[in-house]
Amino acid sequence: MRFEHVQKSYDGAVLVVKDLNLDIAPGEFVTMLGPSGSGKTTCLMMLAGFEPATHGEIFLNDKPINNVPPRKRGIGMVFQNYALFPHMSVAENLAFPLEIRKMGKAEREQKVKRALDMVELGAFGNRRPIQLSGGQQQRVAVARALVFDPDLVLMDEPLGALDKQLREQMQYEIKHIHESLGVSVVYVTHDQTEALTMSDRVAVFQDGVIQQLSPPDDLYESPQNSFVAQFIGENNKLSGVVTDINGQHCAMTLDDGTKVSAEAVNIGAVGSRATISLRPERIELSPDQSRENIVDGQVKEVLYLGDHLRIVMSVAGNDEFIVKLPNGGRHPSPVAGQNYSLGWSAVDAKALDPVD
Ligand code: ADP
Ligand code: MG
Repeated sequence: MRFEHVQKSYDGAVLVVKDLNLDIAPGEFVTMLGPSGSGKTTCLMMLAGFEPATHGEIFLNDKPINNVPPRKRGIGMVFQNYALFPHMSVAENLAFPLEIRKMGKAEREQKVKRALDMVELGAFGNRRPIQLSGGQQQRVAVARALVFDPDLVLMDEPLGALDKQLREQMQYEIKHIHESLGVSVVYVTHDQTEALTMSDRVAVFQDGVIQQLSPPDDLYESPQNSFVAQFIGENNKLSGVVTDINGQHCAMTLDDGTKVSAEAVNIGAVGSRATISLRPERIELSPDQSRENIVDGQVKEVLYLGDHLRIVMSVAGNDEFIVKLPNGGRHPSPVAGQNYSLGWSAVDAKALDPVD
């Protein structure tokens, strides 16, 4: 599946998808992640054929599909509101896409049974959708999208209506089904944990533009700009001016005068402003003096979260600086008002485009 220079405008004026280029390999699970209104659903609708692209070309198995109607694209789909047919049984709901494809009765029954077993609803074929829980209905929707063996399945916030526990369980189920079938999946969510859990690669959307397309660990470890750093996981921001650049490293003077070293990821020339992104779990309290960055801070608040302590500090002019301390059970907890020195490595401090 491939988007080439795809743009979309609904009103002829505003581009809600700006210049989309995305290449998805057979069997890959790619998630479009981004805030509401960033253009994710629009991309799926163009891929499914329900919305025309304003500009550019979409390919499936190397064939352009811009002029192929939705039902001829052979794509399975799952949406947030399950959209099962209420007057049909579960088995009839699953047989429907096969009937449309004029499949014989025997083969139809065998495929329906296989799909129901796959989502562990083998005993529920005769029920009506209304006789199932929300999670079961969503499983039926997943089974119906897969029953005709599509090469590609699109899922748009399919778990959005489920409670947290069920959502997490379904994340694993969908991931396992994907692994066992080898089908390609394009998944849409605004939930970063869901995206990181399930995907081979994640495309982070903002205002109709992919900000970064990376495997989950790269997205977290190596955000390419401040938007991605803010959107994925938690992150401390320290703003200042670049004073020296030496290959991958740079030196910065923060706005309160503190001097730090960082990794030069996405910055302008010496003299330009930049913002450092620093994960709360990469910071050490009372570090060894050999640490590359050692900065003083004051504890504002300590939250006990069982497995870790969440410490809100005032550091280099940032009063919402977060430090996550694993709870080893040995040390006395820091308390509000205490001063500490904090240490972190330059490679964990990513110098990015300025956030002011
Ligand atoms: P997301 O799925 O990321 O929340 P959408 O693709 O639904 O984003 O929307 C992107 C932008 O396009 C939004 O500004 C939205 O208001 C607009 N939009 C979506 N669908 C339509 C439509 N059918 N007609 C006009 N504008 C639309
Ligand atoms: Mg949407």
